[in-house]
Amino acid sequence: MSSTPTPRTTNGGISFWYADHGIPTPREPLPGDTTADVCIVGGGYTGLWTAYYLKKAVPFLNITVLEAKFCGYGASGRNGGWLYNGIAGRDRYAKLHGQEAATRLQDAMNDTVAEVVTTAATEGIDADIHQGGVLEVAYTPAQFSRLKAFHATEVAFGEKDRILLGARDTAARIKVAGAVGSTWTPHGARLHPAKLAKGLADTVEALGVTIHESTPVTAIEPKHARTPYGTVRAPYILRCTEGFTPNLKGQKRSWLPMNSSMIVTDPIPPHLWETIGWDGRENLGDMAHAYMYAQRTADDRIALGGRGVPYRFGSKTDNDGRTQPATIAALRDILVRFFPTLAGTGIAHAWSGVLGVPRDWCSTVTLDRSTGLGWAGGYVGSGVATTNLAARTLRDLFLQDSGQGGTTDLTTLPWVNHKVRKWEPEPFRWLGVQGMYAAYREADRRELTGRTAETNPIARIADRIAGR
Ligand SMILES: Cc1cc2nc3c(=O)[nH]c(=O)nc-3n(C[C@H](O)[C@H](O)[C@H](O)COP(=O)(O)OP(=O)(O)OC[C@H]3O[C@@H](n4cnc5c(N)ncnc54)[C@H](O)[C@@H]3O)c2cc1C
Repeated sequence: MSSTPTPRTTNGGISFWYADHGIPTPREPLPGDTTADVCIVGGGYTGLWTAYYLKKAVPFLNITVLEAKFCGYGASGRNGGWLYNGIAGRDRYAKLHGQEAATRLQDAMNDTVAEVVTTAATEGIDADIHQGGVLEVAYTPAQFSRLKAFHATEVAFGEKDRILLGARDTAARIKVAGAVGSTWTPHGARLHPAKLAKGLADTVEALGVTIHESTPVTAIEPKHARTPYGTVRAPYILRCTEGFTPNLKGQKRSWLPMNSSMIVTDPIPPHLWETIGWDGRENLGDMAHAYMYAQRTADDRIALGGRGVPYRFGSKTDNDGRTQPATIAALRDILVRFFPTLAGTGIAHAWSGVLGVPRDWCSTVTLDRSTGLGWAGGYVGSGVATTNLAARTLRDLFLQDSGQGGTTDLTTLPWVNHKVRKWEPEPFRWLGVQGMYAAYREADRRELTGRTAETNPIARIADRIAGR
């Protein structure tokens, strides 16, 4: 099956979420040299949630957020809107620190989904949040084996409310063609990413946080954030730049900017929804190696994402979300394979963004006590909720370091102050990532046509290349 995007598909323009909600008018750039108690670099969810929790904890704190474009310009305004309890690196943290420590991290993530939902409601942020949980489906024998193993692992990490569903119960929720089973967890909600980003920026500004937009930070040094408009001097500088981090001086080979791309359909009429179901508006995913993720939007479209072309040579990022036509066609093929009745449905918009991938695929939160430099990220594809836990953790680390708080449940989580080695130089970085995703796609293709319940060995080789 192969298809091309319709000529009227909008490509880029940051994301559909901004076409829907409007691109905000940027706030004023930094007017010149200034000082702050805390300077936050990057106005995505990590930076904004951090500003939020710091200001709530210490209302007189002088906080400045510096954002290169506008708040929500990055992944936070482009994602799939899957608020869920997954966290990159948990299984490795279990190996490094033990099952109990990793289970505490997982418990904290389960609570984080509820924290985001509650805080958005408390602050009056209407982000189309609907708590329908997460449904992950299998449609090959190998995927079904992985699904059962995944379900067992999650239960072992304390998720007692996760359930395993057979083909019929899966179809009763969402009729995915060929689905043989699924797993569902209540720890997930669908949201409108740009509405959350804009709501958060407005909320922290109303609390008294200073936000300067159109202000790219060119260098981060202890107690200094330098920009073309002036320097912010602050005892604490917190880097919240995720997939854009390699653009900063000295960070070229830290987190790798991995592309994730999305399409959104035209609104789907009721007679077609009858062929699909999806009344519970669960976040929908699958067990493929190059996995997909999707949501039913508040205005009854399907927004669906996947990897597409995974990485641009030299850690380059996209131009305002523009993605490759081949990626749009590949995502549309997945949509129609899942829901054949949508073969004639138009694709309204396509876009991409970058997520930050550390060499060991483990997300981290760090505050270096000797320099006052902090950072959080490397969330891979799971940042919508994780950014909130990271922000509360940064808050606690700040309070501890500045003598206003002590050790907390968050400061002792296993992802705190985790160190990771750098990525390889080019061309090895590019070759490795391209090779890894080519292998995952080939493994998926073979599993789709094969009858064995074993994961295709090519995927295991790809896992090894990835260093997962
Ligand atoms: C297409 C896509 C789909 C995704 N889907 C999901 C999903 O459904 N669920 C999920 O959990 N996760 C998802 N993710 C990941 C999730 O969106 C991110 O992990 C999360 O938004 C990261 O937030 P952040 O604030 O750390 O980074 P970002 O949102 O990328 O924010 C970083 C900000 O820093 C700014 N910046 C960068 N460099 C500088 C500089 N030098 N000076 C000043 N400012 C700078 C950028 O302009 C940007 O606004 C997805 C990501 C993408 C790209």
